This record gives sequence, structure tokens and C-alpha cells, in this order.
Amino acid sequence: MILRFWGVRGSIPVPGVDTSRYGGNTSCVELASPGNPSLVFDCGTGARALGRAMLGRPERELHLLFSHFHMDHLFGFPFFAPIFAPSYEMTVTAPAFHPDGAKDRIARYLNGVFHPLRLPEIPGRITYDAIRPARPFTRGPWDIVGFAMNHPGGACAYRATLGGRSVAYVTDTAPLSRPGEGLAGGGLPNGREAQFIDFLRGADAVVFDTMFTLPEYLEKMTWGHSYPEYAATVCAAAGVKQLYLFHHAPDATDADLDLLGEQWAAETRLVVRVAREGTDVNLEG
Ligand SMILES: [Zn+2]
Ligand SMILES: [Zn+2]
Repeated sequence: MILRFWGVRGSIPVPGVDTSRYGGNTSCVELASPGNPSLVFDCGTGARALGRAMLGRPERELHLLFSHFHMDHLFGFPFFAPIFAPSYEMTVTAPAFHPDGAKDRIARYLNGVFHPLRLPEIPGRITYDAIRPARPFTRGPWDIVGFAMNHPGGACAYRATLGGRSVAYVTDTAPLSRPGEGLAGGGLPNGREAQFIDFLRGADAVVFDTMFTLPEYLEKMTWGHSYPEYAATVCAAAGVKQLYLFHHAPDATDADLDLLGEQWAAETRLVVRVAREGTDVNLEG
């Protein structure tokens, strides 16, 4: 199983000389397994390069899962080449009460006003489906379960398992406990955190929204983003092997992210790395 980062940035794409090494594209992460259809988490601007890469591969099936529909997670959808390839069989999944929930929300963007295309004009073969967090489901050979996150308007984390390996994609979310309480306060997990730890337990890798530093989070607690210390504490409590810090702040330069990686290199509870656009993580070793 290979975890591939196509876009690691939060909120807005930030191309430029200060972000060229970690990348300026927004959220798009692929989970690939040879001979199986890939899972794609979110369709931020990183999805454009992923779509081009996919057209060059023999597989003609893929499963796209949306955490939520804030623009940094959706903007790449009409630039994702497989939606224009009728040879592709594609599912689009999002948390909703109705199978058309995802379709209706994407159609608000692809309506001829915010983008020249209207959703019904897309030639690809796309099946839409709704899931409820905490109810397991499958996509091809993948076993998947969602978890409701703490984000304005809601967001859903996903954990996908195949061949005994598991990866969780956790964005966007604020901590599940307030400062001084639960795991954030150095104590025992609160009820929701205990469920979250069960959700993450033993995962081979977790990709976690850590857009803020702790002081930034304390200023912007209602914005719905987390910070590295919280992610590491939750993942350590769940026995996670590798944590990837993700959804980097637009202002975070390559130098800032280098420093972040150096700060976390000494962590002993688990491996902590900074997600970087264009890199593969092989989870078989
Ligand atoms: Zn976001
Ligand atoms: Zn969001």
C-alpha cells in the first residue's frame, strides 16, 4: 500500500519560491495498492496532477472520498482528468443523508457561474453515494469507516484498510477536547476522544490536520483546525505508527516546515513527519 501526497496545503493554494519544496497545492491524498483501484481523499488543487498521472495508468476505476466541501477540498474536481474520461468508472462519496448529497453540493460549484462547466455536462461515469460516519462501508476491496470531526459545517475523517494495513485521513478538525481538558489537557480522553482513539487504533499511518501552532489554535479555537501536539498525543494513545502533519497553513514556508520536521524528529512515541507534496510513503516495509 502506498500513501501519496498530491496536495498538502490548507485553505488556499500558495505557489511560489517559499513553498516549492513542500508544495502549494491544497488537499488531495491518494491511497494506492497495485492491482486495485486507488482511493482519493479530497479534490483540492493537487487533484489536477493526480488526474493526469492516473490517465497514464492501466486502471480505469477509482474511488473519491470527500471529507467536506470547503473549496480547498473541492477546487480541483473540475480539473481532475478522470471525470472527462468515459472509460473511467468512478465513485464519489461524502457524508450526507441522501446519495445525491455530494452531487447536489458539487453542482453548486459546477453551475456555470463559478465554473464554466455544469455538473450534468461532465462526460465521466460517476456514481454518487452518501455515508454516515461510524458506519463501515466498502469501495472495491477497501474496508472503510468514517468518523465525524470537529469543523464548522462538519467534516468526516476516513480510515481505509486493505491486506492488513490501515491508513486514516483526518482533516479538517479542531481537537476534540478543549485546552486543559481531556487529552489536550494531559489527562484521560473524554468520551468522544475515546471513540476517536478506537477509530485510529493501530493504524500504520495517519494524515492529520495540524494547520495551527498551539498559540494560533488558542486564538482561533472555532476555526476547526488542530495543532501538532494534539495530533501526536491522540495518535500515540492509539498506537499509531506514523503521523503525517498535514493541511499546512498558507503562510508556512519551506523553512518553517523544515523546522517543524526537525522539532518532531526526536519524538519517541511514534514517527512524526511533515507531509510533502509529490512524495510516496510505502507502507509495506
Ligand atoms: Zn481545509
Ligand atoms: Zn474545511
